[in-house]
Amino acid sequence: MKILVVGSGGREHALAWKLAQSERVQMVYVAPGNGGTARDARLQNVPITDLHALADFVEQEHIGLTVVGPETPLAGGIVNLFRARGLKVFGPSKEAAQLESSKDFAKAFMQRHGIPTAEYQTFSELAPAHAYIDAKGAPIVIKADGLAAGKGVVVAMTLEEAHQAVDHMLADNRFGDAGARIVIEEFLAGEEASFIVMCDGKNVLPLATSQDHKRLQDNDQGPNTGGMGAYSPAPIVTPAMHARVMREIINPTIQGMAKDGIVFTGFLYAGLMIDAAGNPKTLEFNCRMGDPETQPIMSRLKTDLLGVMEHAVNGTLDAVELEWDRRTAVGVVLAAAGYPDNPTKGDAINGIPAESAEAVTFHAGTTDVDGKLVTSGGRVLCVVGLGDNVKMAQKQAYEVADKIHFEGMQFRRDIGWRGLKH
Ligand code: ATP
Repeated sequence: MKILVVGSGGREHALAWKLAQSERVQMVYVAPGNGGTARDARLQNVPITDLHALADFVEQEHIGLTVVGPETPLAGGIVNLFRARGLKVFGPSKEAAQLESSKDFAKAFMQRHGIPTAEYQTFSELAPAHAYIDAKGAPIVIKADGLAAGKGVVVAMTLEEAHQAVDHMLADNRFGDAGARIVIEEFLAGEEASFIVMCDGKNVLPLATSQDHKRLQDNDQGPNTGGMGAYSPAPIVTPAMHARVMREIINPTIQGMAKDGIVFTGFLYAGLMIDAAGNPKTLEFNCRMGDPETQPIMSRLKTDLLGVMEHAVNGTLDAVELEWDRRTAVGVVLAAAGYPDNPTKGDAINGIPAESAEAVTFHAGTTDVDGKLVTSGGRVLCVVGLGDNVKMAQKQAYEVADKIHFEGMQFRRDIGWRGLKH
């Protein structure tokens, strides 16, 4: 079978890499892909981003299944369009993707269905937003309603920062339409974890747990980023916690969507905050896999992903039992100089070793220019190391990271530190 993966990041490279391992897969196209997917003989890049043109391509090439990586095409209705044209696709409809594409939608949904989350209110006017902040005090969290590539959230530790964030979003229009409405919510303390499941409209299949590292520098210092690394499994999600999250968050979400008349299909990602007493609350929903969580998760998946995806689009996920590599996977993101504000581009990348049983390098912001690999985005590569515990997986990942070179390369040395603590 031929498959199409939509997207160009490390997440899409990892999904395509895993799908290509299936004996039944003839070719995995990646649209538009990156320098790594261009170099893998089992993958082929197609330079299309327009949704209608993608559907035309899928028809012409008789592609049997499309898997969508990023949120933008999902929020833009790629799944609705493909289904209307009779094409098999795994992902949420535009309506279901609102759980991610509108924070106000997600918060109102959680409140309506009793799903634990931070207390909040939504604003589109300056004066009431400022008054709410004064009434609640700091720390407090300000979020642009729409998609802002992970940059639309300000965790304000002081009242001054909070008021400034409101001004940036509502008065200065810094996030355009995405920030024309804002959610202001209670600050939650605790430890974060990523809980990702696959849904076929009826059945829910949890993937391995993971934790990502949002801050740029070691010890969770520096600015927030799209994610500087992730590891799997996350020991904070014990079997008891797993059962509780399924019972209190995941199942009520899928059932709540159904009650609201929306069938949820695709990956559902709940970003959790687990407080000191061990109570989980939902920070956010994503309607797709996380990046970089996908890279360590796919590195651990032993089950044939094509088979799983086929069950997912046919509504038979209840027949699937996933098998995981028992080892820990640690994924370290290698980012460009200047990331996250102003990443430089066009620097030569050298020294990426061949994949081994202990380590694999996924590409994100890379481009193949006449056989030479150069940087073309903020997060350039993600090196995943596998080992019997966090320490051994870190060793594998950092051995590879230390062999790779590009100008101004930045990465964290402590990915997985919470796993070491447990
Ligand atoms: P992304 O999709 O990149 O994960 P996002 O823009 O959807 O990000 P959120 O996940 O809602 O944003 O928030 C980003 C980060 O901000 C969270 O991972 C968490 O660290 C922090 N955060 C969000 N909400 C809260 C909260 N209520 N209390 C404390 N921290 C929070």
